Amino acid sequence: MERNELKKIKTVVVKVGTSILTDKKGALSTPLVKQVAGEIGLFHKKGIRVVLVSSGAIAAGMHELTLDKKPRELGELQACAAVGQPLLMELYHKLFASLKIKVGQILVTRDDLEHRNRFLNAKHTFNKLLSRKVLPIVNENDSVAVEEIKVGDNDTLAAYVASLVEADLLLILTDQDGFYTKDPSVHSDAKLIRLVQSIDRETEKKATGTLRKTSIGGMQTKIKAARRAAQNGIPTLIANGQQKGIAKQLLQGKNIGTLFQLRRADKRR
Ligand code: GLU
Repeated sequence: MERNELKKIKTVVVKVGTSILTDKKGALSTPLVKQVAGEIGLFHKKGIRVVLVSSGAIAAGMHELTLDKKPRELGELQACAAVGQPLLMELYHKLFASLKIKVGQILVTRDDLEHRNRFLNAKHTFNKLLSRKVLPIVNENDSVAVEEIKVGDNDTLAAYVASLVEADLLLILTDQDGFYTKDPSVHSDAKLIRLVQSIDRETEKKATGTLRKTSIGGMQTKIKAARRAAQNGIPTLIANGQQKGIAKQLLQGKNIGTLFQLRRADKRR
């Protein structure tokens, strides 16, 4: 039933993490980004409004500046983001152009999303882009944002954006098939969960962070994002972005990834 409803989505926010955009050396990988672009291209082709929330700027900047450890100092991180964000956009521009999709960049901080006036301004920009069939590509404005005004991770940022554009699905693409009973990188008997209807302490315990040096959050922030999206009545699907045909299968109502469709009581926590 739930999966069938996904066939009818009209607006989707797709979040892609650094892990599915970069190679082992931490550089943006054209084949990997092309795979993501192909999935988004299908939504676009079907007339679905799509917004892309993409990480990868800091990793791309680190690679460009030949840093192999993620800097701790804020100024260094901001410099990486400043160098990496245009590289990320350059690649997206090129790959989406080959699919005849125009792109626009929107960089935001938490301030832009939590203050009514700024929220409405941002909403206006998104709607203009979408009505022109331009794909908005969103990231946190890391090169100027400081801790106090940051959302902090792109899973949460994507949940904010999903409510901003009144999406009917938040699709989080990652390097795992979905949400497991245990961390699958550590436990070989971990099982994929297909449907989550409530997030309790047990669910939170199953969600681990990330060990990757360029990534933020892991499953923990994805669970939080699913809860935030649910507060606005938006379901979240966590699926493997490295798997070809994920958008097609989703639109066919296939049982891919983990669907978070939270019950009412859970949405309020
Ligand atoms: N905004 C960060 C970047 O572009 C990523 C944050 C995240 O992955 O959650 O590198």
